[in-house]
Amino acid sequence: MTATATKLYSLGALAVAQGVRERQFSAEEYIHQVMERMEQVEPKVNAFVTVNKGAVEQARALDKKIRDGGQVGPLAGVAVSIKDNICTKGMRTTCASRMLEEFVPPYDATVVRRLQDAGAIIVGKVNLDEFAMGSTTEFSRHGPTRNPWDISRVPGGSSGGTAASVAAMECAISLGSDTGGSVRCPASFCSIVGLKPTYGLVSRYGLVSYANSLEQVGPAARTVADVAAALSVIAGHDDRDHTTVAAPQDGNRPAHYSAAGIKKALRVGLVRELVEGADEQVAKAVYRSLDVFAGQSCKCEETSLPSVQYALASYYTIAMAEASSNLARYDNVRYGFDMSPEGYEWNAYFAKARAGFGEEVKRRIITGAYVLSSGYYGKYYLKAQQARSVLKKELKSLFAKYDVLVGPTMPILPFRIGEKVDDPLKMYLVDIDTVVANLAGIPAMSVPAGFSADNLPIGLQLMADEFQEQTMLDAAATFESSSSSGMQRSPDL
Ligand code: GLN
Repeated sequence: MTATATKLYSLGALAVAQGVRERQFSAEEYIHQVMERMEQVEPKVNAFVTVNKGAVEQARALDKKIRDGGQVGPLAGVAVSIKDNICTKGMRTTCASRMLEEFVPPYDATVVRRLQDAGAIIVGKVNLDEFAMGSTTEFSRHGPTRNPWDISRVPGGSSGGTAASVAAMECAISLGSDTGGSVRCPASFCSIVGLKPTYGLVSRYGLVSYANSLEQVGPAARTVADVAAALSVIAGHDDRDHTTVAAPQDGNRPAHYSAAGIKKALRVGLVRELVEGADEQVAKAVYRSLDVFAGQSCKCEETSLPSVQYALASYYTIAMAEASSNLARYDNVRYGFDMSPEGYEWNAYFAKARAGFGEEVKRRIITGAYVLSSGYYGKYYLKAQQARSVLKKELKSLFAKYDVLVGPTMPILPFRIGEKVDDPLKMYLVDIDTVVANLAGIPAMSVPAGFSADNLPIGLQLMADEFQEQTMLDAAATFESSSSSGMQRSPDL
């Protein structure tokens, strides 16, 4: 392979790491091409908030290490982007909010450090809805990100920059966060692979909190194998996040997830309630996936998860309650004694300080405070937690019967920028199929499932029982290698 003949920027993560390690090309050449690609497509896509100007130099240092015979990690040289709500030492982390416009973290999130230890090169920080609240990446201080498949449409959200940067080949892997679907939704809309791990598999240390009991950091890439490779690097216990556990294969890091395809006939259940009400072309693609699995001797049937009807209300109640508490810290004041000037008025000061939040974030803080208030706590917050328990129980019994559950990732096709931005309820409704996994804490992922008649991406969602990521990845890999996935295409930018 010669560097000039190959578009290095278009390679997947595993191919890059191999090429760099075996010195078929240098990390510097590759990263240089990635940077050029960014310059070419960013005016159209707007996925990046901050570009790491030191990336080429870091690649050069890695090349030297390899030439000197040093050991390098499994992601040697791979270009990675990071959602801008995950802390990067010395690189600003804005959460797409005016509140954190100038915040430069003094430390790296554990997931970022692990990627770097594995040899990855962070090429920049990518766009999101403010504080990860949204499904389109339109609620951003940095302007909307555009869908690389059709730049008049949304890329999904809130990790829209994550998915768009991967789909537009501005990096091979990206990390997003998924509180109610934020990795899977944009993965589906941008025709890439995105995974939300089991709650507790991946450290949240350094992830700016939106709703702690629901969220996980998750990887996105163009292939199931690359997502598995990224998950292997970031998974596992972290002393700095006490909700984390050791990765299941063994207690020793690194974990090892693969994408070899299914080894034994799996029991696959299609969740009826998730397909009901979905766009016809999306529903068709989901049913077609059963043919793929049946072709591999899997036992496939329709099944039912009745409590899906409570999922969305329960999710938004809990998410907003947790958000109102988490976001209380952004007050522009910390500790100290009273030096208030004459005429200082507390309410006026805070009204001004809290005006740093956008409309959607404010809406959620207010609603969250309301559902937690003494008069309404039982009626809303407690009810939502009860519904969450029912959903968890129902899912547990389904996983006694099925190894993998399938459904759509998104009930609709990627829509136009501006189409739902003024209607919060319509916006919340698009999360109906993704929030289930967050409420239950189970792993879920989106895999490309072809395109609609007018060339818009469709995503298949897979879910598995807690810590059964490997089974889910195997099923995803089998589906990916079938013709239904439409993985062979790339956007025309
Ligand atoms: N769209 C959902 C919300 O706005 C999910 C966001 C996320 O997963 N961060 O809450």
